Amino acid sequence: MKDRILKLTNELKDELIVLSEYIYENPELGNEELKSSKAHIELLKRHNFNIESPYMDIQTAFRAEYNSKKEGPTIAYLSEYDALPGIGHGCGHNLLGTVSTGAGIVLSKLVDEIGGRVLVFGTPAEETMGAKVIMADKGAFNDVDVAMLAHPNANFAESGRSLAMEAIQFTFRGKTSHAASAPEKGINALDGVLMTFNGINALREHILPSARVHGVIIEGGKAANIVPDLAIAQFYVRATTKKYLMELSERVKNCARAASLSTGTRLEIENYELSYDDMVTNNTLSQVYNRNLKVFGVEDNEKARELYGSLDMGNVSHICPAIHPYFGISNSLDIPSHTREFGEATLTEEAYDSMTKTISTLVLTGVDVIRDKKLLDEIKLEFNKIED
Ligand SMILES: [Zn+2]
Ligand SMILES: [Zn+2]
Repeated sequence: MKDRILKLTNELKDELIVLSEYIYENPELGNEELKSSKAHIELLKRHNFNIESPYMDIQTAFRAEYNSKKEGPTIAYLSEYDALPGIGHGCGHNLLGTVSTGAGIVLSKLVDEIGGRVLVFGTPAEETMGAKVIMADKGAFNDVDVAMLAHPNANFAESGRSLAMEAIQFTFRGKTSHAASAPEKGINALDGVLMTFNGINALREHILPSARVHGVIIEGGKAANIVPDLAIAQFYVRATTKKYLMELSERVKNCARAASLSTGTRLEIENYELSYDDMVTNNTLSQVYNRNLKVFGVEDNEKARELYGSLDMGNVSHICPAIHPYFGISNSLDIPSHTREFGEATLTEEAYDSMTKTISTLVLTGVDVIRDKKLLDEIKLEFNKIED
């Protein structure tokens, strides 16, 4: 099976490089990925996938299916293809999406024989609103047995965790007045924001060290001689579990409520972006993936990192067993992501070699899940123990 997968991946390699380089040359921001999603769809169509796009009312999302019509599990690979403002594909999503689509195509050439179903999802706007959150909420992954994607990175690394996140906005409203000649007639909205920051900074001493609260003031008045009647602050609150996130978010909101009460301002609280769940790596699935990486010659696979950011794959990992490992494209240079240099590294021989190994590993892992009923049972047993 190993040799067959490698052969199929190598046969596809030229088409995949064309796809990745085309997307690199045409960087599109989140939810504007018209060319990029179309390029994925055309390749998948050429390889006999049935396409639904737009998907779930998201213009640049798609769902591609290849069904062997033989009984077996559903394996899903998730593609991303959004770029960053100013620096194009500095997160390497041109290559990330290509790897997922490539894995889907290669596995589709095997399922007629071994059974099962292959899905490739196009999931836009990972860097901004995170389409996977909406797709997960609307049931896109309800009939999926395992979901996988691999993200480009300096080195190969195992799938780990990411933090659950809430994006909370506080809007304080007061009353303008001359700040020197009639201060007693004004109500200072900026004070509401400042007291909120002070409250949160006091709270900080008593929260779990793994949690994060960080904010900015996006509106704080126009001139020093006018009492500000409008002030707005935005925060991200992050924690390792959803349960603790909810508890901590409530305490953060109470800081704003206390500030509103003490300053006499009116307070509005809202979420300014979608909330992300924590990423729960399915360790049973992850171990199979890590073992398979070695089959294709990757020996240096770093242990899962303590990741303090948040991923929209987190929401998927609460719907079905999932992994989000990393593959190395600039091992020698150790280039950080979200830079132009990292984007350029997606076009190198090293990157294409890693692409081939990663696709082969994703496919072999899918094959293992399809052929080994006991393995899938163990994966699901672990999944069913996740606490929300
Ligand atoms: Zn990124
Ligand atoms: Zn990314």
